[in-house]
Amino acid sequence: MKKVVKFGGSSLANAEQFQKVGDIIRSEESRRYVVPSAPGKRYAGDTKVTDLLYACYNKAEAEQDFSSILTEIKERYYEIIRGLKLDLSLEEEFKKIEADFAAHAGTEYAASRGEFLNGKVMAAYLGYEFVDAAEVIRFDKNGNFDAEKTDKLLSKRLQKCERAVIPGFYGGKEDGTVKTFSRGGSDVTGSLVAKAIHADVYENWTDVSGFLVTDPRIVDDPAVIETITYRELRELSYMGASVLHEDAIYPVRVANIPINIRNTNFPQDYGTMITAEPEDMGDGDVITGIAGKKDFTVIALYKHMMSTERGFVRRILAILEDFDCNFEHIPSGIDTVSVVISNSSIKGRLDEMVDAFRKQLEPDGIECFENMALIATVGHGMNRRKGVSAKLFGALADANVNLRMIEQGSSEINIIVGVENKDFETAIRAIYNAFA
Ligand code: ASP
Repeated sequence: MKKVVKFGGSSLANAEQFQKVGDIIRSEESRRYVVPSAPGKRYAGDTKVTDLLYACYNKAEAEQDFSSILTEIKERYYEIIRGLKLDLSLEEEFKKIEADFAAHAGTEYAASRGEFLNGKVMAAYLGYEFVDAAEVIRFDKNGNFDAEKTDKLLSKRLQKCERAVIPGFYGGKEDGTVKTFSRGGSDVTGSLVAKAIHADVYENWTDVSGFLVTDPRIVDDPAVIETITYRELRELSYMGASVLHEDAIYPVRVANIPINIRNTNFPQDYGTMITAEPEDMGDGDVITGIAGKKDFTVIALYKHMMSTERGFVRRILAILEDFDCNFEHIPSGIDTVSVVISNSSIKGRLDEMVDAFRKQLEPDGIECFENMALIATVGHGMNRRKGVSAKLFGALADANVNLRMIEQGSSEINIIVGVENKDFETAIRAIYNAFA
């Protein structure tokens, strides 16, 4: 059994957190490959080391004195090293970082040092080998991530290590230039390592006990999702639920490796297991999760005999393309069709867009409904069950929510409803309670 364990910034914010992480790793032989983030916030209002590094480097680039922020960063690591009673000096590393900053080595290099240094501390603490991610996570000369090279380099290098620490978030080009993934990118590194070593499980340790069925700001104390498929997760994250970096899914998904989201502060909790294939749910939960977003606009078009007119929808899409506008859904009826667009995608150009629809499509009627919210109720089991939508719509009617739109994805793993923004929270609570 081989596991890759990734720890987020809050799990490594200070020595006490490091000790919890050490206990977790040592409690299972199989936890052999460790991917650390940089130290995160120790308390609300604290600053992540990555953010300190960005700020520090900005000063260096502006030729300002950056020594006080650098000392603050150094102190974050020495606080951990002292707390763990490690015999480790990072003086050489900091000397090099200071010189590189002064020589304007680049923002991405600067940010990556948070993980680099934390990897050094982690390797010393565990007695594992340190593998610099710049050597095994590869970006091409244009700065695009090179999945194939990375997989080769990583698996070759890690074959030689029984146990290793590979810092998250960054990699390198062939010429040695450091590149980072986008923020939260250590999740991606963990996923790449898991794929390369054919891990049985990729454990992603954070400060929550998994994905919640819905947003805790709307429903008090929602249940934790025990298992979820990658597809369901995609539907829920698209609608706003997030715990994991989006790009962390693909590498493990194709390799059929489950991700287990775990809580460093409550290691006894099972967390959430994300798998490729759905578990047989028996008579259990039909609904896996509920997520949603506010602020959409629906443009509804009506035209007599639209159903016989060729190319009507194509022309709608061409107009949206002209406006560089993404659409979310196109519910249609016999002589009607609507497009659902997020307000951020409309970018304040609704009137112009409606004008274009009028001129180019000559509809008999066109109506806009602003301030709409979309809610996705997701569950892979719903396609085999009867009465799921009846229950959902019944719950919304009982809660006095006016349903403005209904869509069911062709995959039949979700039902999407459109409601007014003002009914958003009430609707989510009603759906949650109906299926809880
Ligand atoms: N330290 C980086 C960030 O704050 C990457 C990570 O934590 O995954 O975004």
